[in-house]
Amino acid sequence: MNRRKFLKAGALTAPFLTAKNALASTFDAGTKPIVVSTWNSGKAVNAEAWKVLSVKGRALDAIEAGARQIEDELNCCVGLGGYPDRDGIVTLDSCIMDEHSNCGAVAGIERIKHPVSVARMVMEKTPHVILVGAGAQQFALENGFPLESGELSESAKKAYEDWLKKSEYKPVINIENKPAVKKQNGPFAPNFFEDGTANHDTMGLVAMDALGNLSGAVTTSGMAFKVHGRVGDSPIIGAGLFVDNEVGAATSSGVGEEVIRICGTHLVVEFMRQGYSPEMACKKAVERIVNRDPKKAKTLQVGFLALNKKGQHGAYAIQKGFEYCVKSNDEEKLYQSKFIL
Ligand code: ASP
Repeated sequence: MNRRKFLKAGALTAPFLTAKNALASTFDAGTKPIVVSTWNSGKAVNAEAWKVLSVKGRALDAIEAGARQIEDELNCCVGLGGYPDRDGIVTLDSCIMDEHSNCGAVAGIERIKHPVSVARMVMEKTPHVILVGAGAQQFALENGFPLESGELSESAKKAYEDWLKKSEYKPVINIENKPAVKKQNGPFAPNFFEDGTANHDTMGLVAMDALGNLSGAVTTSGMAFKVHGRVGDSPIIGAGLFVDNEVGAATSSGVGEEVIRICGTHLVVEFMRQGYSPEMACKKAVERIVNRDPKKAKTLQVGFLALNKKGQHGAYAIQKGFEYCVKSNDEEKLYQSKFIL
């Protein structure tokens, strides 16, 4: 090999070696429990998860407890209190994934309060990964989940009636940048707005427990006023959530179709495997969406949130406004995500 070829080969292998070294340290499990969750409503979710993590509980139990907290909150737009589809029906999506890559999900489930627990049961009691619609509801009922009333919450009813006037399906971006129109009528009120629009209707959370094991969950009512039967990224493993216990975990929020197109959270975890920090991994996944169609990206919001095996966290979004909450022994904080546009 002449010098020139040697230098060229060196230039090609150097970044690889750096990435490999970074990789080695990424794989050293952190021993401090931590939970991270999307949006400002993640504070109460994290508090619930922390009750499990702080007594050396399993990350899987922690994230299920956290997700159930927000599903219980009928003033919030994640669970049965969320906005309906265009036929006036609230349909919920959820998934869960543990440290062994076991996973379960439900999509388009109606009148069941805790889809995250149904998703866990799909994971633990069936050989399947996803159950949908009537079949998911039947499975939940057979396993003792009560059938709730199909009535819309007050705020959802009002928003739906307003929406029906025009019946336009238009996901709203940058809603977080409109504080002046926020309603102040409850702990999760910032998710609802006077002009009939809704904040992102999704809670994604990932956690690491005292043993260094990772798990994650997502729960959502999906995009408001969606076509009946539409499934977003949230219950899709590799799109709305991905956990790899060797590397890290990631979750997403925003326009699910765009996340599905790039297998978003799987991509984020793969970037972390290559040695990128959680924030950089999220940024690179966001860039994938933006570069694919820069003009369309201006009308979209997608945010990724990631946690690596060292307990480092980070996020990135297309637009300003994505935020996430962190709870560990060292911090309890709401972070504003960086963004591309
Ligand atoms: N990602 C969710 C979906 O597409 C929506 C959201 O994050 O608000 O269903």
